[in-house]
Amino acid sequence: MNKNDQETQQMINNEAKANQNLATFCTTQMEPQADELMKNALNTNAIDKSEYPKTAAMENYCVSMIAHLWGIPDNEKIYDDFIGTSTVGSSEGCMLGGLALLHSWKHRAKPAGFDIEDLHSHKPNLVIMSGYQVVWEKFCTYWNVEMRQVPINGDQVSLDMDHVMDYVDENTIGIIGIEGITYTGSVDDIQTLDNLVTEYNKTATMPVRIHVDAAFGGLFAPFVDGFNPWDFRLKNVVSINVSGHKYGMVYPGLGWIVWRHNTADILPAEMRFQVPYLGKTVDSIAINFSHSGAHISAQYYNFIRFGLSGYKTIMQNVRKVSLKLTAALKTYGIFDILVDGSQLPINCWKLADDAPVGWTLYDLESELAKYGWQVPAYPLPKNRDDVTISRIVVRPSMTMTIADDFLDDLKLAIDGLNHTFGVTTTVDQDNKTTVRS
Ligand SMILES: *Cc1c(COP(=O)(O)O)cnc(C)c1O
Repeated sequence: MNKNDQETQQMINNEAKANQNLATFCTTQMEPQADELMKNALNTNAIDKSEYPKTAAMENYCVSMIAHLWGIPDNEKIYDDFIGTSTVGSSEGCMLGGLALLHSWKHRAKPAGFDIEDLHSHKPNLVIMSGYQVVWEKFCTYWNVEMRQVPINGDQVSLDMDHVMDYVDENTIGIIGIEGITYTGSVDDIQTLDNLVTEYNKTATMPVRIHVDAAFGGLFAPFVDGFNPWDFRLKNVVSINVSGHKYGMVYPGLGWIVWRHNTADILPAEMRFQVPYLGKTVDSIAINFSHSGAHISAQYYNFIRFGLSGYKTIMQNVRKVSLKLTAALKTYGIFDILVDGSQLPINCWKLADDAPVGWTLYDLESELAKYGWQVPAYPLPKNRDDVTISRIVVRPSMTMTIADDFLDDLKLAIDGLNHTFGVTTTVDQDNKTTVRS
């Protein structure tokens, strides 16, 4: 083999490996032109807006495009009406969203006559469903906020609308709606939540607000049908975050947050820092300071390269792949499908209670790993942690061909497990004993 052949082979090997990772939400493949662009922009510093005004402009364009995807009317403008920033990922976006809620709660608590130093009566709290991503636990721990977890109810892996408002009181800084629950890929019913909040706020001393954690749904839902309003179309949603490195299709290291209104009430003044020493005074909102502008260029590249219609086509294909996996999983007759890919492109299933097999989803995880596939098995959140599930995240790089390869290997894996662990072929209806082959 000559050197080029070897490089090609290496590239294919690497891609094959990344494509077999069905556990991650993160982008592992971009166009070669985007790779090149990022390489060239690696030495830029996104925070230095006077030295790299083009990066700053691209950042603002991206914030605007995302804001308009999320229901902010097209005639509204960044800074005049809404505001946002790039971040290193959704984690930084969630931190900023949570901090804005906390600070604005403090500003409103004083006129309401609360002694906010008195943590016995006025410790701020945040309300969220129990299947939150770990960043929310970090947020509450780092900033001394009480986390009020709403347990999941039955098979419904989302915020329990019958009980969520029981967790809200005058010390609630906000409720988090999750547009894409990391555990299962299901979504909170944020439209119903918005109605509940509107009703609550009519008589509340301290009106409550919603921040939406749309880490992966935020750049998927706008491009396909099948979602109820979950974004700024809803009155009480004040801020939303998303990861650029999930369905934004940029390599890890990028997120976004948008606040609905550029007002001190929604984004308190103390969270905006004027930085004069880089040449020109600009507001800095982010927690991180210096970081490369490469990811911002890459996001901007994707947006103009694919456009709205391109993102729509890509995400519709992603959904097709996810639905295909569901159809194939159903043919085995041993899985209960929890999330079928008809909304977010996540496949999530458990073994049916009466599945006549002697193996578990953990065994399936290990067996699939022998073929190179990563398909994690893990327990549901608190309250239902007796249930084990498996999850596949379908990303844009998962083509139909890759899905077919996976399904071939899934069949081999299941045949192998049945062979090793035995399958129960007959169920004796009278004494309910099962007979293993
Ligand atoms: C991935 C994820 C996060 C964290 O995002 P990063 O971009 O990895 O920092 C937060 N919330 C949800 C719902 C997620 O899926």
